[in-house]
Amino acid sequence: MAPAMERDLRMDNPLLHQDSLPQFMSIRPEHVEPALRQVLDANRARIGELATLGAPTFASVVEPLEELHHRTSRTWSPVSHLNAVLNSEGLRASYNACLPLLSAYQTDLAQSEPLYRAYRTIAEREGAALGPVQRELLEHAVRDFRLAGVGLPLERKERFKTAMLELAQLQARFEENVLDATNAWSRPVTDRDELRGLNEMLIEQARTRAAEQQAPGWILRLDQPTYVAVVTDAESVDLRRAFYEAWTTRASDRGPTAGRWDNSAVMEEILRRRHEVARLLDYPNYAQYALATRMAHSVDEVLGFLHELAAAARGAAQAEFAELEDFAGRKLAAWDVGFYAERLQRERFHVSQEELRPYFPLPRVLSGLFEVAEWLFGVRIRERSGTPIWHPDVRFFEISSAAGEPLGSFYLDAYARANKRSGAWMDECIGRKHLSSGTALPVAYLVCNFLPPGRERPALLTHDDVVTLFHEFGHGLHHLLTRVDYPSIAGINGVAWDAVELPSQFFENYAWHPQVLERISGHFDSGAPLPADQQQRLIATRSFHAGLSMMRQLEFALFDFRVHAEYAPERGGRILETLREVRSEVAVVPVPEWNRFPNSFGHIFAGGYAAGYYSYKWAEVLAADAFAAFEESGVFDRATARRFLEAILSRGGSRDALEAFVEFRGRRPDVRALLKQHGIDRAAPKQYDAEGAGEPA
Ligand SMILES: [Zn+2]
Repeated sequence: MAPAMERDLRMDNPLLHQDSLPQFMSIRPEHVEPALRQVLDANRARIGELATLGAPTFASVVEPLEELHHRTSRTWSPVSHLNAVLNSEGLRASYNACLPLLSAYQTDLAQSEPLYRAYRTIAEREGAALGPVQRELLEHAVRDFRLAGVGLPLERKERFKTAMLELAQLQARFEENVLDATNAWSRPVTDRDELRGLNEMLIEQARTRAAEQQAPGWILRLDQPTYVAVVTDAESVDLRRAFYEAWTTRASDRGPTAGRWDNSAVMEEILRRRHEVARLLDYPNYAQYALATRMAHSVDEVLGFLHELAAAARGAAQAEFAELEDFAGRKLAAWDVGFYAERLQRERFHVSQEELRPYFPLPRVLSGLFEVAEWLFGVRIRERSGTPIWHPDVRFFEISSAAGEPLGSFYLDAYARANKRSGAWMDECIGRKHLSSGTALPVAYLVCNFLPPGRERPALLTHDDVVTLFHEFGHGLHHLLTRVDYPSIAGINGVAWDAVELPSQFFENYAWHPQVLERISGHFDSGAPLPADQQQRLIATRSFHAGLSMMRQLEFALFDFRVHAEYAPERGGRILETLREVRSEVAVVPVPEWNRFPNSFGHIFAGGYAAGYYSYKWAEVLAADAFAAFEESGVFDRATARRFLEAILSRGGSRDALEAFVEFRGRRPDVRALLKQHGIDRAAPKQYDAEGAGEPA
């Protein structure tokens, strides 16, 4: 590139404008690398100065480093976000080109001996004079230096750095394979009969898609809402089986796109690198390494916890499945379970997710959800137009205190579309900082994959979708209501990963409360809220198949934890073997041999949940127990909400997660609140006991 052009690009590079919200639509793939290079170069120069300061202090070293942390995250966040929600060949290439730069920078920083010494000096000399938040920050930082191999001999340090870089690349590759495999498959349908049972919205969209491609009939894509709708509602066994197979074999050696984006080798490589990283630091395995920053302390503690839940839920799960086969009148395959479960639920409770959709238009759900948050935490949430977004469907909201003090803002990208990663998540766009160098308010991305609106009706949500939205919004509150001034421990940063799902799962509870249902529902034609009897029946479904769903989550969690704890270089990852062993222990529903769910298990192979999927269950115990405190004082009790905000929600990583919980609850967490919430604290129905349904809870 010619120097003149380079200069122009730099001056106009939207990623370098950090005094406003990201200009998403101006960000081009060619901006990415120059912006990142410039920021990292400037950071490195500054770090060089800081590392050689004679008498390091919190103000002279730590604060400036927190500022650099903020700058880096602010430059990179829009890039990694766009890569997830608006993926393109060009952006993907730029993103991948930057991974080595970013990874090398992060490792160099984390392995810097002079900085490590400076932090320890500050902790020793200044520690007693600092506040608890600052002391916690120093403790975190010193721990993280150690976990990045700061004290290692040079050769091992170098190997650590290379392994981290390779991991970043392998994880990106994993995600790309899943996205490509998902995008590649669709199901053309020419016989209307095959669509029987599916909702009209989905059928209408499938017809439009076919028309756009000048194809006859309908085209069903493999996006998440379509997959879920097909396996739950389609009467055609062929269609259900085809979707189940396509979905559970994505990026693998099996199924309709077998071998084209196979993640099997990528997964092996990821496990090998993670194990190596752990060994370099003298941890026996990656699981033990990961626990160094968690609430749980040992491999046995986590496995014991998961087995305890399995023992408690097994009887209920087996009884539920036996009952479901009775109901269907035949043996069930994996792709039948959702379908018959829906029918049984409908027969028993007269509620169906699809029939609930008209009652949950997204605008109504949002305004009800906001009211709950506003009431509990004394905030105001208002939509603002005119803010730069990345897609016309995206909306932007501001959150402020009751007195009008701005607290932060968030984007909502609600609908499924091509080139967008499936699932739902909250991520940091901008983190809160309050430093002598300046102040920034937190900004969050809330991303979901709901069925989009039609031409003449709003997006209509199932109640499952509503729960998902409350979940992500709970994460959002954690990020947005933080009062911590230092980016490295504000919001969800620095929070023990097995406690990070506490606010999200806590907030889900509100999506099930009658008074909330009253406010978030309103038929999109008549505006009428969900009738009281239907509401009661919906609430009754909450513990429906709780045993089965618990066992399924435990299957994921045990698989994840065991592959990381048991890895041995001489025999490799044993991915499928471990999966088989875990299934023989906890699976209640028969799973076909060709199911390859690990190959698309992005949480653990591409995201932050490696050896951490158990966190959902771990934090669910905290969430259920915390919500029980609300139930004791009234779920809308503002004094309790204030205590929750002050002890947990606003504190980020600035204090120990267990201590925070104990402050709020007055005691340590108790697993019984969760079992009670799921209705599996009782023994399994008597008629199944004789069949050896497993040990009692
Ligand atoms: Zn979550």
